[in-house]
Amino acid sequence: MNAIRKHLIQPIVDLWSLIVGLKVTGKFFCDKQVTVHYPRKVVRNEDLLAYRGHVELTPNPKDPVKPKCIACGMCAMYCPSNCLTVVKPKPPKPTPEEQKAIEEAKARGEKPKEPKAPREPVSFTYDYTLCSLCATCVENCPAGALRFSNDIYLAGSSRKDFFYDLLARLKGQAEKATKAGGAAKPAAEPAAAKPAS
Ligand code: SF4
Ligand code: SF4
Repeated sequence: MNAIRKHLIQPIVDLWSLIVGLKVTGKFFCDKQVTVHYPRKVVRNEDLLAYRGHVELTPNPKDPVKPKCIACGMCAMYCPSNCLTVVKPKPPKPTPEEQKAIEEAKARGEKPKEPKAPREPVSFTYDYTLCSLCATCVENCPAGALRFSNDIYLAGSSRKDFFYDLLARLKGQAEKATKAGGAAKPAAEPAAAKPAS
């Protein structure tokens, strides 16, 4: 009985398994190709609309070199992986005239009007090696200043290659777009975060 199983039944089972595997291979071989032969071909921008790449800053529509970010720090506070570091600007020192006005206001018991800090962050860095792409930062930004990039061709030789200065990146994107004579935004609008269900 064992000999029949070994020399007859088992080869039939193995052959059937091979046929099933070849059927699957044949089906996908004949189907429309969904991958590209990189680097001879690249993914079309219109196919990246739902792609969730690393986090990046969105440009200010009035001045694309600058971010929409108002340096509130909420993204860094909510990020579960501590990927984001936002350095807020300090208010400028009051001029002698302003200082005098502040002291006079204080003497009158009024609330002095002190110089306000600029809204734009001094620096905005991001460690992609820690990011889980959870979208918490994107969804909680009150200014709509964060989004996922469509940057898919990433390569590096050390972790440091994935530590991003997002302000410098935004500036580089805007300058590149200006040189190309186009709008200062990525070729394809990156994926918006979908609320967690
Ligand atoms: S990106 Fe958004 S949440 Fe983060 S500091 Fe800027 S405005 Fe605040
Ligand atoms: S996507 Fe998530 S893990 Fe990545 S930076 Fe934003 S909050 Fe942090």
